Amino acid sequence: MNNLHINKIVDFSYVDGPGNRLVLFLQGCNFNCQYCHNPETIPERKAKSYTVEETFNYIIKRKDYIAGVTASGGECTLQWEPLMKLFAKLKEQTQLTTFIDTNGNVCDKKMDALLGYTDGFMIDLKAVNYDTHKRITGKGNEQVIKTIKKAVKHNKLYELRYVLIPEINDSKNDLKDLANFIKYLNAETYLMLIPYRNQGVVGEFKSLPSMTEDQYNRILKTMYSLGLEKIIKKRNFFCKN
Ligand code: SF4
Repeated sequence: MNNLHINKIVDFSYVDGPGNRLVLFLQGCNFNCQYCHNPETIPERKAKSYTVEETFNYIIKRKDYIAGVTASGGECTLQWEPLMKLFAKLKEQTQLTTFIDTNGNVCDKKMDALLGYTDGFMIDLKAVNYDTHKRITGKGNEQVIKTIKKAVKHNKLYELRYVLIPEINDSKNDLKDLANFIKYLNAETYLMLIPYRNQGVVGEFKSLPSMTEDQYNRILKTMYSLGLEKIIKKRNFFCKN
């Protein structure tokens, strides 16, 4: 694959890595989350195709206003070859930082290739418990855990992202598992806790109620009591996931 298949480009974002960033939402995903807010990004089709050169030129026109570029999705690592070429070119010719927002379901070979050109990773962890993860995404979490550990090994895990879904992955045990896993990683990372909201959801979880602000605040308290206060990034409660 030589071209990038891009669902949309957001020129300026403050929630997709450090500083003001241009975000490329690439088409295609290898999970099928029951709460996906962007189901149109899942199929590997129906997106505009851009050469690496065209994408690079688009970024260059905006380079003075951004700290860097984040590749998101869908699952951007499915397009690892053109993405790697784009990041390599950015590294070679600009001072912009390169970040990847991934669901973690990326094989070692692709991850190894991308690590050399990527400054940091935001990785979704849908659940620490294998069965819960499978219920949410349709697949187990072994590869996600491996990807997280690999990013940590290279000191490139910028942020873990966890969507709190009431009654699915927000029990006391789920939170304890999450806290223990992060302590075990022993990494310098942020933890972004995102309250589930059901607007725009088309999957099975559509019928679940959105998380309330009270529920969210209670969970924050629990996570603080588990020793994670310093690394938690709160999500603006009305912010889009
Ligand atoms: S990983 Fe993200 S884009 Fe893919 S199905 Fe899940 S929520 Fe949707």
